[in-house]
Order: sequence, then C-alpha cells, then structure tokens
Amino acid sequence: MPIYAYSCSSCGYAEDVMQKMSDLPLSTCPKCGEESFSKQVTAAGFALKGSGWYATDFKSGNKAADKKEEAPSHACGTGGCTACS
Ligand SMILES: [Zn+2]
Repeated sequence: MPIYAYSCSSCGYAEDVMQKMSDLPLSTCPKCGEESFSKQVTAAGFALKGSGWYATDFKSGNKAADKKEEAPSHACGTGGCTACS
C-alpha cells in the first residue's frame, strides 16, 4: 500500500498517510480541520523510482503478464508445439 505525504497549507501540519490507490485523497486537516490538507510530491517518491528495484520488478511483472495473455490463444495446449514456443 503506498504512503502519501500530506501537508496542510493552513497550519503547516504534515503527516504520512497510508492509502489504497482507490482511496479518495484526504482534504481535511486532522490538526486544524481546514480543507487545506493535500498530497505532496515527495523526494522519497523519486528516490524509489531511481533505485532500480522498481523498474526491474515492473519488467518481470510485464513478462509474466504477457505469458499469461499468450497461453489461451494457442489451441494445442501441449507445450511441445513449436508454434507455441
Ligand atoms: Zn491544518
């Protein structure tokens, strides 16, 4: 589950919030109650992207997805068929 850095532009309160991708972003500051609590673009997010493990993980994930997609399109299903390799 991704962690988002939120901060309040009204009182300056900052908090890291763990949310599902599908969760609605928060807008109400838990400290002052103003509707000025918003998601921040963090340096941590960029560091994660540049570290390499994410890119590698994404690549292998794609490969697996491709294989899964291909499998049902072959009628023979024996695994020994040269057309299916
Ligand atoms: Zn606030």
